[in-house]
Amino acid sequence: MPATPIGLCTSCRFQKVIRSGRGSEFSMCTRNKIDPSYPKYPRLPVLRCAGREPRP
Ligand code: SF4
Repeated sequence: MPATPIGLCTSCRFQKVIRSGRGSEFSMCTRNKIDPSYPKYPRLPVLRCAGREPRP
């Protein structure tokens, strides 16, 4: 992942890492698909999130 600290998303089951053709990486929140109040690409680092669920 990028040098930017990501915060809680790193250990959340809703995070999906997107890699661009140029090698950049983005942290996407897939919770956005079921609840649009969660931004698809949250501002990093995410330090608080009520929707976080740990990865299984
Ligand atoms: S639900 Fe919260 S912690 Fe999980 S990926 Fe989305 S923004 Fe990050």
